[in-house]
Amino acid sequence: MKVAIVGGGIIGLTTALQLKRELRNAEITIFATDFDNTVSHVAAGIFRVSSSYSGPTEEITRNWIRDSYEYYDDIRKSYEASFAGVTAISGYLFANSSPETVKNYWLEDLVPIYRRTTDEEFQLVNGNWKYGSFFKTLLTECKLHLPWARKKLQDNGTKLIKKKLNSLTELVSDWDLIMNCTGLGARFLCNDRRLVSIRGQLIKVKAPWVKTFFYGELDTYIIPGFNGILTLGGSRNFDSENMKICPYELVAIRQRCENFLPAIKTAEIVKNEVGLRPHRENNVRVEIEQIVNGYSKAILVHNYGHGGYGVCTAPGTAKYAIKLAKEMHKSSIAKL
Ligand SMILES: Cc1cc2nc3c(=O)[nH]c(=O)nc-3n(C[C@H](O)[C@H](O)[C@H](O)COP(=O)(O)OP(=O)(O)OC[C@H]3O[C@@H](n4cnc5c(N)ncnc54)[C@H](O)[C@@H]3O)c2cc1C
Repeated sequence: MKVAIVGGGIIGLTTALQLKRELRNAEITIFATDFDNTVSHVAAGIFRVSSSYSGPTEEITRNWIRDSYEYYDDIRKSYEASFAGVTAISGYLFANSSPETVKNYWLEDLVPIYRRTTDEEFQLVNGNWKYGSFFKTLLTECKLHLPWARKKLQDNGTKLIKKKLNSLTELVSDWDLIMNCTGLGARFLCNDRRLVSIRGQLIKVKAPWVKTFFYGELDTYIIPGFNGILTLGGSRNFDSENMKICPYELVAIRQRCENFLPAIKTAEIVKNEVGLRPHRENNVRVEIEQIVNGYSKAILVHNYGHGGYGVCTAPGTAKYAIKLAKEMHKSSIAKL
């Protein structure tokens, strides 16, 4: 079977890796406008899915999240963990507005520890916080994970082609299965007006002494990654596609994080980053259809619109997308 995957971010590459595992003989080619500068490269990569994250049904969403956690946890336990940029991480979530803010509908039953903070733990950061949770989860650093995934795929014979597609129909005559993993690019390719960009800005600093993550309110977060690099965040600008660093936001993020955790005051800036989260109103789109171009037809599976949670939920939506493709392929063979 000839498979074309469109998109070289976390969704496209994870889909390709899982496809190779499930359909060993599949001939896979990945097309992407860019493999090195995607929004996936900007993500902090923490496995923290918001309670508002949604697939088509409650059960499917829960499966996506569980499958994703298991996928990354298997990598974490393997000898490849540090090459693949996957690690365990623990930390705190503090809030004042409501006790609900520190709960997590999807994670509480999934991660190894999710509990209320003790009185002493409130003293770890500044602020008179009313509510707090401590939890243990995973982190996937895409700056390591994406090159690791690409190498693994290329070693298995997958071709990577840098090319911008103007339409998915361009692929129909040469491919049996097309997986559309184009993130925000699907707005143009599928004319999907439910996709909206949520811009986010981050600061990367060097602070190897911070080993724990901290979330406060107003989108304030401090997340340790690999090699002593700490992500300071953040911002959410709905429907903004401005890829320039905003100097005012930069000062505000730094100030909020320093007030929250004074131990980072001396941390040296490594980089400022901006990314556009591919948010899709109502739900992430993992759907199947048949696509026709003249006398040729192919199976097309969409897998996009993961918003701020694409790194953590990529493996689950990839598994589901492949399941849809296999079912359709089987039923079309049965009809012959
Ligand atoms: C500041 C910030 C922090 C974040 N933190 C986290 C986090 O901690 N945890 C988490 O899970 N998520 C996080 N995210 C969200 C995460 O980054 C996204 O959900 C995820 O990267 C989306 O992946 P993707 O593969 O769909 O999109 P992308 O990474 O954008 O990849 C899309 C790919 O499609 C290609 N493409 C698009 N159009 C075309 C076309 N016409 N032809 C060919 N190729 C095309 C692009 O070139 C690219 O290769 C964060 C995002 C931001 C901005």
